[in-house]
Amino acid sequence: MNTPKTEPETAPAPSNFIREIILDDLKTNKYGGRVHTRFPPEPNGYLHIGHAKSININFGFAKEFGGKCNLRFDDTNPSKEETEYVDSIIEDVHWLGGDWEGRLFYASDYFEQLYEWAVQLIRAGKAYVCDLSADEVRQQRGTLTEPGRESPYRNRSVEENLNLFERMKAGEFPDGARTLRAKIDMASANLNLRDPIMYRILHAEHHRTGGKWCIYPMYDFAHGQSDSIEGITHSICTLEFEDHRPLYDWYVEQLGIYHPQQIEFDRLNVTYTLLSKRKLLQLVQQGHVSGWNDPRMPTISGLRRRGYTPEAIRSFCRRVGVSKTNGTTELGLLEYFLREDLNKRAPRAMAVLRPLRVVIDNYPEGQVEQMEAVNNPEDESAGTRSVPFSKVLYIEQDDFREDPPKQYFRLSPGREVRLRYGYFVTCTGVVKDSSGAVTEIHCSYDPATRGGNAPDGRKVKSTIHWVSAAHAVNAEVRLYDNLFTCEDPNQAPEGQDFTANLNPNSLETLGDCKLEPALAAAAPGNRYQFERLGYFAVDPDSAPGKLVFNRTVALRDTWAKIEKKSK
Ligand code: ATP
Ligand code: MG
Repeated sequence: MNTPKTEPETAPAPSNFIREIILDDLKTNKYGGRVHTRFPPEPNGYLHIGHAKSININFGFAKEFGGKCNLRFDDTNPSKEETEYVDSIIEDVHWLGGDWEGRLFYASDYFEQLYEWAVQLIRAGKAYVCDLSADEVRQQRGTLTEPGRESPYRNRSVEENLNLFERMKAGEFPDGARTLRAKIDMASANLNLRDPIMYRILHAEHHRTGGKWCIYPMYDFAHGQSDSIEGITHSICTLEFEDHRPLYDWYVEQLGIYHPQQIEFDRLNVTYTLLSKRKLLQLVQQGHVSGWNDPRMPTISGLRRRGYTPEAIRSFCRRVGVSKTNGTTELGLLEYFLREDLNKRAPRAMAVLRPLRVVIDNYPEGQVEQMEAVNNPEDESAGTRSVPFSKVLYIEQDDFREDPPKQYFRLSPGREVRLRYGYFVTCTGVVKDSSGAVTEIHCSYDPATRGGNAPDGRKVKSTIHWVSAAHAVNAEVRLYDNLFTCEDPNQAPEGQDFTANLNPNSLETLGDCKLEPALAAAAPGNRYQFERLGYFAVDPDSAPGKLVFNRTVALRDTWAKIEKKSK
């Protein structure tokens, strides 16, 4: 792989096969010059970064070609679907920049029409009511090498089928007692065409239609026709639906309705990450994370809370592109685009996560100086701010070593370093507790080095950050590591599931962090670069007087490292 370049959001997207198809259709005027896509989530969980790829593709092409993109909930499975999921999905698509321009639809809007279409197929002798159980249907379906067996109910008369289907709808039969099946071909090489189930009996409350229905269409019977009803031109979905396409085609052809074109692309997979709503739900339900929006989750709401920007996610999706084969993308690539974006937009601040007290013995007691600090070296218009400097400061414990190893150039006894935007200081003494742990250090400062430069031109090897103790704002900071310890969390040891791969150290909470006073005004969602430490975002758990920050990503560019190694 080549080193990823910064791609401005306005740069033309790289060419791909879906664009070629759309361009070709526009040339041949296949849909009268229309481009109309849709993003069709099932509201059975929160959206994740894989969905962002699909959102980017569907809304992206609509925008690129002056077309439209609908948001449609494929809500055909009442037992797993909830309004909470609908609401979160709407929020997330909107946040990612998807604009459905009021075209928000539900497959459940079409239940009546779908029912009529089912009746139409029964009348045409293309569908029948089957009394086999779902298990029996599965058993008789055959395999890739063996044809399926025909149901003994396959040749019921149209009248009997109409009567039974009507009674299924009226609630006369218990769950699972009967199904409506398409009459296609039990010997088809494509298992999806072996008399697939169209309707099942399910006495369940639906999040929108309530108790109105006790029969529900299968996803496969609803999806293609929903696209047809909405006049979708390019029905873009992931590769696992390739084998279902002949069935969608069969339904719209038998019904004689408008025929959208399905195009399949590869699912996004990311190392150290699970992208399956079912498994993410398990993490939530079993309490391995604090919720769907836990900042360690690959959900859009988790990434947002962690401090990701929609721009970073879109750049990542654009870079990942589309293909016809499934692969896995390095998590480092996502973090690369995140750093690229945050570097440009995040104001800088000084924060000490693990504080060590420093007393500057020769600094006047009670004196406070306002030091000028640059808000963002990448953005001059961001200006500067004042940071108070005083006699007692905090620095990172890591920035001091009593016995420094060879390559260690930060503070140690007798060593001089630069305090960023402050002064040169030299360590003159160490205070320890009874266990021998360093509790405080003493320094002297050189008043001639105000702002961080020595007039005599002498150099120091290290610059460290600091916060004035008397002015510090207290905060809790949550550091995150990958949620899983291995690249493919699905590869679990014999007899265990993916939770065996959970990283026990994915969350570290630091409760005694010291921030420069300007951060007292930080509000949930604000993002900062803490100098030398990484990017951090204010968590919604913050309350007045109690700031909580999430580390969004460390400064270290793992992607650049990976690139270097592979050269
Ligand atoms: P999951 O397996 O996580 O439950 P899903 O495919 O069942 O996902 P849907 O709500 O049906 O989730 O997905 C809505 C759209 O998003 C579909 O068009 C689907 O193909 C697409 N999508 C889902 N996961 C990914 C992914 N990992 N990469 C790209 N597109 C995805
Ligand atoms: Mg699905």
